[in-house]
Amino acid sequence: ASHSLVMEIIMIVITGIRTGISQGAEAATEKAIAELGVKQNCVKNSYIIKASVDARRRTNISMVYSVGLELTCNEEDAVKAANKPTVTLRSSLQTPLKLGTQKLNSRPVIVGFGPAGMFAGLLLAQNGYQPIILERGSDVDARVKAVEGFWNAAKLDTSTNVQFGEGGAGTFSDGKLTTRINDSHCDYVLRQFVRFGAPHEILYKAKPHVGTDLLRGIVKAIRQEIISLGGDIRFCSKLDNFNISEGRLRSIASGDETLRAQVLVLAVGHSARDTFELLLKKQLAMAVKPFSVGVRIEHLQSDIDQGLFGEFAGHPALGKGEYQLSHRRGDRAVYTFCMCPGGTVVPSASEQNSVVVNGMSEYARDQVNANSALVVSVDSRDFGENPLDAINFQRKLEHAAFVAGGSNYKAPAQTVGDFLKGRTGLNLGKVHPSYSIGTKAANMLDLFPQQITDMMRLGLLVFDSKIKGFAAHDAVLTGVETRTSSPVRILRNEHGESISAEGLYPCGEGAGYAGGIMSAAVDGLRIAESIMQKYAPLG
Ligand code: FAD
Repeated sequence: ASHSLVMEIIMIVITGIRTGISQGAEAATEKAIAELGVKQNCVKNSYIIKASVDARRRTNISMVYSVGLELTCNEEDAVKAANKPTVTLRSSLQTPLKLGTQKLNSRPVIVGFGPAGMFAGLLLAQNGYQPIILERGSDVDARVKAVEGFWNAAKLDTSTNVQFGEGGAGTFSDGKLTTRINDSHCDYVLRQFVRFGAPHEILYKAKPHVGTDLLRGIVKAIRQEIISLGGDIRFCSKLDNFNISEGRLRSIASGDETLRAQVLVLAVGHSARDTFELLLKKQLAMAVKPFSVGVRIEHLQSDIDQGLFGEFAGHPALGKGEYQLSHRRGDRAVYTFCMCPGGTVVPSASEQNSVVVNGMSEYARDQVNANSALVVSVDSRDFGENPLDAINFQRKLEHAAFVAGGSNYKAPAQTVGDFLKGRTGLNLGKVHPSYSIGTKAANMLDLFPQQITDMMRLGLLVFDSKIKGFAAHDAVLTGVETRTSSPVRILRNEHGESISAEGLYPCGEGAGYAGGIMSAAVDGLRIAESIMQKYAPLG
């Protein structure tokens, strides 16, 4: 038996095709055919593989495309005849994966139905492994209600929230799907997203995004596919315990139920603090890892567009302006992260008495504000070498933010002008904070250690020289952003298994091997492949 992630396609790829911003994909394809030097009627199929905006010179913004061509004649000869570095042959032919032969004595269990658990589950189900998936939160429809209850009435459900529930942390997000080009796993993830309802454009856009509204439907469709292939998904089911003996996983427990388990994919995300505590108690090898903390910054989207595109701001071909900025001083970095054009800052706590922010957009990205995390890297210098201390470092900031917001889930906020002057204040101008529960004037200098606020200040000033108005006095900071990535790593060997327990596969962002929807999904696929290479499918 064998399996392959992608279909076989051989095509010629022509990169660096430039067009004006008002010209579309057709003009790019024509230019690519001319660049290759073949006749139009030799072209069997054409694809836009990548489209991006080059706005480095604001007076001359252009589109840059990579175009894929399938020919009716020999592709290899055409590439040789063209003899240009921009023209290459690409084959997505995969060496098929050889499925393993060891017999499983029980169905593989996956814990967590975020991108990592979802894609591990999908691939295992598609290949006959009938996974059982446990998810502590509820299904997406009940989850939307629970999240709205928090956003509108400050009622937090600690089992189902922005971090926990069907689809994982990314369900309420901008759904940015940043890709690593040329990776067949990314390609598989994007194609599955399209199959389950994402727009076709995500296959070629340089910065594809799906939006929270479309993501919710996609997540449901993936669940239905897994079930139709013999998988089992149990919501409101938390992994509470597991049993390891003689270095091998034997069973797991959820509530009153104990399940025999030879294979467990642990895809619990970065907010499963109780699960991390359980792993530490069971002496699973773990280490602290660097992550970042800071605030969300909000501007008017129109000001960001102006700062990025100048006189071209608002041109339909450019879409909403996006940015990604970073600056390093010594061994600390300040950077923007998870920018949400036309989006909102969302209450993202998962524990009582804490305030956490993050950002989200709908597919249309049509809200008035742009938001982005403005965060500073932290590491063992800030919290020591013990994983529990790294988690407590996050917790302390989240609790301090809760208190500073008035102990009612309102978030502490400050205008950039007040922050730069070092005083408590929320003297609003044209930017109004979008955090739905409400905000309270605070001073970020009182919330964070000085090494962090110093870097935030430096970042604001440096970034203002890159996008005019970034440090405008009426831009708004809302705190605290602490769940940027996992504070811990669960150590695993080259097969993806925990170095402490055979059969236990730490996976995705929580385990410290991914950051973002796409990389978590890809890690899920890799872990599934590792399991498939070792064990035979069931029945
Ligand atoms: P998660 O998505 O965190 O999934 C883990 C799942 O495990 C959760 O559903 C949780 O309930 C479950 N779980 C935990 N413990 C247990 C247990 N003991 N038993 C059973 N179930 C358990 N990334 C992007 O790439 N683009 C974006 O635009 C983007 N925007 C974001 C916006 C927001 C508001 C948030 C919160 C995150 C955003 N991210 C974004 C980050 C992205 O969501 C994560 O990187 C990604 O979801 C990680 O995937 P994962 O599967 O590893 O973990």
